[in-house]
Amino acid sequence: MTHLRLYYIILNMSNKVLDSTIRYLKGVGEAREKLFKKLDIETLRDLIEYFPRAYEDRTVFKKINELIIGEYVCVRAIAAAAPKLSHIRKGLDLVKVRVVDEAGSIEITFFNSPFVKDAIKQGESYVFYGKVSGTLLRPEMTNPLFERKYGGSSSSPITGCIVPIYPLTAKLSQKIISTAVRSALDKCKDEINDILPESITAKYKLCDTRYAYENIHSPKGFKELDIARRRLIFEELFVLVTAMRLLRAKRTEKTGRALKTPDFDKFYATLTFTPTNAQKRAIDEATTDMSSGKLMNRLIQGDVGSGKTLVAAACCWLTWYSGLQSAFMAPTEILAKQHFKSLTDMLTPFGMRIGLLTGSMTAKAKHEVYEQLRYGELDLIIGTHALISEGVEFKNLTLVITDEQHRFGVEQRSLLTEKGDHPHVLVMSATPIPRTLALIIYGDLDVSIIDEMPPGRRVIETHVVDERYRERLNKFVRKLVGEGRQVYIICPMVEESEGDGDNPEASTEGAGAPATGTPKSVIDHHKTLSEKVFPDLRVELIHGKMATKKKDAAMAAFTTGEANILVATTVIEVGVDVPNAALIIVENADRFGLSQLHQLRGRIGRGEFESFCVLIGSGSGGGESGTGNERLQIMKSTNDGFKIAEEDLKIRGPGDFFGSRQHGLPEMRIANLMTDMFVLNEAQKAANELLESDAELTLPEHKLLREHIMSTRFLAM
Ligand code: ADP
Ligand code: MG
Repeated sequence: MTHLRLYYIILNMSNKVLDSTIRYLKGVGEAREKLFKKLDIETLRDLIEYFPRAYEDRTVFKKINELIIGEYVCVRAIAAAAPKLSHIRKGLDLVKVRVVDEAGSIEITFFNSPFVKDAIKQGESYVFYGKVSGTLLRPEMTNPLFERKYGGSSSSPITGCIVPIYPLTAKLSQKIISTAVRSALDKCKDEINDILPESITAKYKLCDTRYAYENIHSPKGFKELDIARRRLIFEELFVLVTAMRLLRAKRTEKTGRALKTPDFDKFYATLTFTPTNAQKRAIDEATTDMSSGKLMNRLIQGDVGSGKTLVAAACCWLTWYSGLQSAFMAPTEILAKQHFKSLTDMLTPFGMRIGLLTGSMTAKAKHEVYEQLRYGELDLIIGTHALISEGVEFKNLTLVITDEQHRFGVEQRSLLTEKGDHPHVLVMSATPIPRTLALIIYGDLDVSIIDEMPPGRRVIETHVVDERYRERLNKFVRKLVGEGRQVYIICPMVEESEGDGDNPEASTEGAGAPATGTPKSVIDHHKTLSEKVFPDLRVELIHGKMATKKKDAAMAAFTTGEANILVATTVIEVGVDVPNAALIIVENADRFGLSQLHQLRGRIGRGEFESFCVLIGSGSGGGESGTGNERLQIMKSTNDGFKIAEEDLKIRGPGDFFGSRQHGLPEMRIANLMTDMFVLNEAQKAANELLESDAELTLPEHKLLREHIMSTRFLAM
């Protein structure tokens, strides 16, 4: 033991066992240390903060005649006969034993555990824990755990307890992890300090931190587990929220560059349309921020088609007017190119120099843009994630805009702002996000809402149909194309999986409800349509896996009106703007989230033409039935993105709503930002109260909390 102790002292300057390496534990050598590292576990603290993902309840007891096939349960029974060992073949031994209680009997089989033959004795009683298989008349258990006495007699009982299940990595078993966690807990229980001030634990009725760690890993019962969980979730959210609050305080303290105040009527006069009042208000709020001398951090929230791009353009214009640079980041290449086109149209007449940067450009072309940015030869750069590449440097980046912000992670956003000296930040989103979450996703920010559509927008007629309408639908496509209109046809996927660096379509795809019908591959569908169904029309194809050149060519053919039909995946989900398109057909529509369908539907009705959206569900012959199709009916009943998002939230739950990795929320150890909404509200309240009494956490009773927050990654954002 002493040499281990010495080892720890040499390796660790910290004087806490909690911060020492897990090598300090018995049974953790170099090999295991590496495996643990894969789970980001290096210190004892990491270990005790490695929370179980689930629990196995070994406290439920049943009589044999009450067993349900498939359940995990404890049974107390007597071995009716001596266990029989048989060698089936090389490497396969079986021990079988019949056990009985007063209500019935079970056949138990152990594979490759010959020792059981002697461990179980005829006439003796045991508690077995395992999964019930077989049939109701002849229940069975395979490889159950067993011991003589319920609750065991040692310190690590097999039954009568709640067993934690940890997320694993190859070669680290549950047993290894739980043993390590147990000994870490035993070694440093006394070192776990409560970072929450007593005022808060008392008011919000939170258990103390030692109780929490003990019961999250080895719960005495489910009640204790709940108490522990609540405490840890609260703490995690509280730390996050408090960090955000401190960030905001830092921001408002910080001055941003105060820009000049030009005459916006000059800008408006050049537009081909009259801005709506809502657009003007948003522009006014944003530009007031930027001229105030404070740092702007503003979210522009407005439904698809409400005209958010104009707000971005106005802010870039103002920045240029003060002789400074702006960057505008979009989540897909298609969208970046489209913004490039529309902002070029709006802003070059003033003499603004605008560039485009995407991942698919040649190294030479990129390099040229880098140079221009560095020397201030560009006033505005529009691009994809390529904007955060290392080579990108600015002369005087003063405004950072991100479109469809929820698709970017926290780091990506901060990487771009770090390229300037505290630039103003404008984020634009069509996804209505609950305010509590918005605070976390975007730090703390001010919000402008564009709640008015540009005049003359058509109400889109939406239909939910199934395969039986295929013929009529094809005729309808012909009729519209005959009138000179264009058509989008959306399929859920390219192949089984897809994705490219520049766009996130793969991860939003199929984020919908349980879908039935086989998803249509966009490639196959394009082939059928162009060769068999509409051989006389020009049918283009676009999806995320295509080479950029091909994508561009397809998009160009559609934008110019040369192509009649565009068969696409959700690459066209955001931003694409072709006013002549009057019909969108979505195949396997029940595979999409409602908000996503709403975005897709936003591609049409952008011009003067009556427009239609046809959602093909997989009503499997039953017409408009099934949960999938019921969901789709909501699309028919409203065009309001906020209402649709609400319904989506209700039906799918918040986890799905934002898609898996798309939300830009920080990763949490135990809290779930979506489902722990109630605790999140409490934590927010608590953080407000605390900071009101001690704005910078300088009081001695808040010292631990302050240190903890400073050590988290949140404040690095
Ligand atoms: P979104 O909010 O979805 O980003 P856009 O900014 O792309 O919307 O605008 C959608 C379309 O509406 C574009 O073609 C744009 O030129 C047009 N538009 C924007 N504002 C107005 C307006 N005030 N009047 C008429 N058309 C407008
Ligand atoms: Mg937009």
